[in-house]
Amino acid sequence: MTAGPIYDRVALIGLGLIASSMAHAMRAARLAGHIAGHARTAETRAAARELFCDSVHGTAAAAAEGADLVVLCVPVGAMGEVAGAIAPALKPGATVTDVGSVKRAVIAAVAPHIPPGVHFVPGHPLAGTEHSGPRAGFATLFRNRWCILTPEPGTDPAAVARLRALWAAMGSNVDEMDADHHDLVLAVTSHTPHLIAYTMVGVADDLGRVTDSEVIKYSAAGFRDFTRIAASDPTMWRDVFLNNRDATLEILGRFTEELFALQRAIRMGDGPHLHAYFTRTRAIRRGIIEAGQDTDAPDFGRAKAGT
Ligand code: NAP
Repeated sequence: MTAGPIYDRVALIGLGLIASSMAHAMRAARLAGHIAGHARTAETRAAARELFCDSVHGTAAAAAEGADLVVLCVPVGAMGEVAGAIAPALKPGATVTDVGSVKRAVIAAVAPHIPPGVHFVPGHPLAGTEHSGPRAGFATLFRNRWCILTPEPGTDPAAVARLRALWAAMGSNVDEMDADHHDLVLAVTSHTPHLIAYTMVGVADDLGRVTDSEVIKYSAAGFRDFTRIAASDPTMWRDVFLNNRDATLEILGRFTEELFALQRAIRMGDGPHLHAYFTRTRAIRRGIIEAGQDTDAPDFGRAKAGT
């Protein structure tokens, strides 16, 4: 971990799971001289004051005033409005970043508000839990998780390097890619799987022939993991689908085709098709474990994620 602050003053706008985890991680490794914060509600601001912010402000602009780094940690659909609110307070040479789960739409909403002389380096930490709010954060959330930065061509390399150093010091592995590519990759790895989990939990809930108590009592790992994913914040996920529409619809179209093929194999009793398919997917799971992105433990790393 790096010694000494990377930024003198960091402002976190939105003080939920991701912001609070960043604050805890920055405090643990002394990566920021001062952490200022702003959230909508007085309740969240009070929790942040108590738990992880050095100063808490009633407006986003007041929190961003004088900051070297401003991190937008609000739902994707609120990014543009918040960027507009902080714009007049940004100091020359500051960097604005965000942690939104979608990148192209956030760039379109935020970039027009960034004044000349201020750097904008969009980002997305691939780390989270199904919990939200200022009390949900913990310092190790980003450890050994990827953080993807999607700077547009022409972005100041020094500003990007400094932000990379912050994420690395919080424990992340950092990558850079084009925003459109990010959105397609995340549609495959996160957004569409969430939609499938939401659907499966909805189906179980609707199915009158299996009672709710049976679903809970007999839920093996597969369904239990779906319920965990489907418990994620509804506002955040509504915004993800509204703002990553094209990529999600493309992957969903392919998913539906594959599902029909499997449905047909089941109907036709085509065992070799099913076996070959499941053999291929099993190898993908092995690759994820070998890459250190999950554990081989039967609890799928849940015990660790909740701490
Ligand atoms: P969260 O726990 O629900 O927190 C959201 C925060 O944003 C709350 O403090 C909320 O304030 C504040 N907020 C909402 N609208 C606002 C507005 N208009 N002005 C000011 N503050 C506002 O959310 P999160 O999980 O940290 O997610 C934040 C961002 O990170 C999202 O863009 C999400 O896509 C991204 N992300 C999430 C995950 C994940 O797994 N959760 C992972 C990676 C990235 P109040 O509490 O006062 O309402």
